[in-house]
Amino acid sequence: MFVDFDGTLAAIVEAPDQARPRPGAAALLARLAARYARVAVISGRPVTYLAEHLGDAGDTELIGLYGLQRMTVTGAEPDVEADAAAWRAVVDTVASEAEAVAPKGLAVERKGLAVTFHFRQAPHLASWAADFASDRAAASGLAAHPGKMSWELRPPVPTDKGTVIAELATGLTAVCFVGDDTGDLPAFAALGRLRTEGIDTLAVAVAGPETPGELLALADLTVDGPAGVLDLLETLAGRGEPPSQSQPSPPA
Ligand SMILES: [Mg+2]
Repeated sequence: MFVDFDGTLAAIVEAPDQARPRPGAAALLARLAARYARVAVISGRPVTYLAEHLGDAGDTELIGLYGLQRMTVTGAEPDVEADAAAWRAVVDTVASEAEAVAPKGLAVERKGLAVTFHFRQAPHLASWAADFASDRAAASGLAAHPGKMSWELRPPVPTDKGTVIAELATGLTAVCFVGDDTGDLPAFAALGRLRTEGIDTLAVAVAGPETPGELLALADLTVDGPAGVLDLLETLAGRGEPPSQSQPSPPA
């Protein structure tokens, strides 16, 4: 059971540092983690942000920066993918450049190994953000990725939500992923590949005004906003009883 964070467990908000999971989300994840083989939140956020706001999520694994960082809720320092760590100074430099030249209203979010340019508070800066991300990507070697009202620069390593899911799915017989944005497309694609290997998969898109049509088109199931996600997770978490207790014994 794998879920995204922003737009999935947490509503999209004007200022990215104000995003919080819906009340009860962490407790629900803890129940799921007790019931299912593997539960993870896979997000573009740094894992420290996820850990700060999902601290009660039991055995849920936290995967940050699209797979570059991972830790458990109870874990200590996050692991960082070595190939990506070498890019930290480059990311810092580009973030400083952005802070120096960005027009008023464009928010520069430093994520350590990635930097995001948000134009949600100044939609007229959409093309400025796209051009800046494209120029800086070309000059620095970082890779530019679009998101909801944002552009992000990340290390050019072959890690995304799809590679994360392919790895986490090892040994599982059924895999579900819930997401809402462009960065979740590789996760849906990974589910498609798992399905061809005989694994049961469920791709769930979180519908909202900014959800990419491409994601909705590929979904097996669509839920309405983070509230719909929590309803789904509540159903999947059951009432806390092991499934075997509710099944009748076979006739002798
Ligand atoms: Mg999201």
